[in-house]
Amino acid sequence: MHTDDAMLTGRCGCHTVTFCSTKAAIVLSHCHCSECRRVYGTAFGSIVVVPRSGFRYLSGELEIACFAASPRVNRYFCRVCGSSLPLVEEWDPLVGIPLGLVNDADRALEGIKSQHIFAADALDCVVQDAPRFAAWPPGQDGNNRAQHLRD
Ligand SMILES: [Zn+2]
Ligand SMILES: [Zn+2]
Repeated sequence: MHTDDAMLTGRCGCHTVTFCSTKAAIVLSHCHCSECRRVYGTAFGSIVVVPRSGFRYLSGELEIACFAASPRVNRYFCRVCGSSLPLVEEWDPLVGIPLGLVNDADRALEGIKSQHIFAADALDCVVQDAPRFAAWPPGQDGNNRAQHLRD
């Protein structure tokens, strides 16, 4: 891998697909649109935007599958592990990288601006001031959760 000049590197969940960006990330967008919710399987999609001119795959390109989400936008994923992969389109000068793929993200994205987009579509049940626990909440670890279900 030639990543000496990389500002950012990343990979899918099974290490098959790897990539880098030789240009700094522009912005981190948390997208609340319903399509991102489905594709990422989460409350919203967190996407690191980089210039396409600096983006390249380092391995695993033959394992990249996609489907047409719209006439202009394909959604890409690793056919081995199912991880969502960066959105790379010929017509688009920008690439959107799912945040969870980025290696050492706090370092790679230090100082980046973030924004919430399509916030009008955000789910009401995603409460922004929900309590935070460093790991499992007290009494709710994996074993205890099964216990709760039996009660
Ligand atoms: Zn994979
Ligand atoms: Zn979206």
